[in-house]
Amino acid sequence: MLLSVVVPVYNESDGIEIFHKSLISYLNPKNDIDDYELIYVNDGSSDDSIDKISKLAQSNKKIKVLCFSRNFGKEMATTAGIGASTGDAVILLDADGQHPPRLIKEFVKKWKNGIQVVIGVRSSNQKEGTVKKYGSKIFYKLFNTTSGSQIVPGSTDFRLIDAAVRDELVKFTERHRITRGLIDWLGFKRDYIEFDAPARIAGTASYKTSQLVKLAFNSFISLSLKPLFFFGWVGVGITAISVLTGVFIIIEQLLLGDPLALHFTGTAMLGILMSFLVGLVLISQSLLATYISHIHTQTQGRPMYVVDVTHSINL
Ligand code: UDP
Ligand code: MG
Repeated sequence: MLLSVVVPVYNESDGIEIFHKSLISYLNPKNDIDDYELIYVNDGSSDDSIDKISKLAQSNKKIKVLCFSRNFGKEMATTAGIGASTGDAVILLDADGQHPPRLIKEFVKKWKNGIQVVIGVRSSNQKEGTVKKYGSKIFYKLFNTTSGSQIVPGSTDFRLIDAAVRDELVKFTERHRITRGLIDWLGFKRDYIEFDAPARIAGTASYKTSQLVKLAFNSFISLSLKPLFFFGWVGVGITAISVLTGVFIIIEQLLLGDPLALHFTGTAMLGILMSFLVGLVLISQSLLATYISHIHTQTQGRPMYVVDVTHSINL
């Protein structure tokens, strides 16, 4: 069995050697790993991370390096690493020590028991700020209620996928991607491993709050079409209310001569007419959204279905 270990690296110069040493010490038959390849993807680091990685690669043929021409972001780095992997299973790991390498053994154990996607779930993160903590809570809540697909709160990129899952994953061509979202979309047999994320070995997390918000927003857009329809329903509500009020005014004031003495002014009637029109505009937008959503799924070009097992059929 060959295990591919994919590690995205961005400005991790201060901690990469410690991380590497720790990681390598777990990649041996004693930990149930017969053979491995370790793929470092340098995501355009501006420090000397690449020099350090290259040096490590020179001393060990199992260490492979892929170096981006500039910073493309972690999602692209993991995509490239997974694409370059050749193992029977692929495990993704952060280079900052927050995904403890000693747990690899447990991931592999589950995989050997037939699980095709093993997901690391963070149980606590001591150094996490309040914004990030509550931000992610709100994100999971919103996401799980609006998007149709379910994400277990705290699930991370620390995950192992079987070669079969990798082979499906590399078929995805969409550009705005969240690797873990795509893996979740694919399905397959999955299980979870809970872990405590320690503090970084060195340096600071490179995802700023604004980037995290962008990431969360992108997740919604790429995995869910509900936001497109939300305002359509708002339009339906506004139209319904203004039609009811309009009909009431026509009957009460214009036809019956205002028996209730409500004295609707011209401005009030104009206001109701305006909200009726706004409602119509919102509804027509969601009609457009329906077409856009079809174009969206078509251009994403995801497989229409994913086959796991077949009997007496050769695909
Ligand atoms: N990373 C990357 N490209 C980037 C930002 C981060 O490859 O543009 C890598 C980084 O080196 C680390 C992992 O992605 O191995 C997670 O990054 P970080 O620790 O900054 O994020 P967090 O812990 O908040 O998920
Ligand atoms: Mg980190």
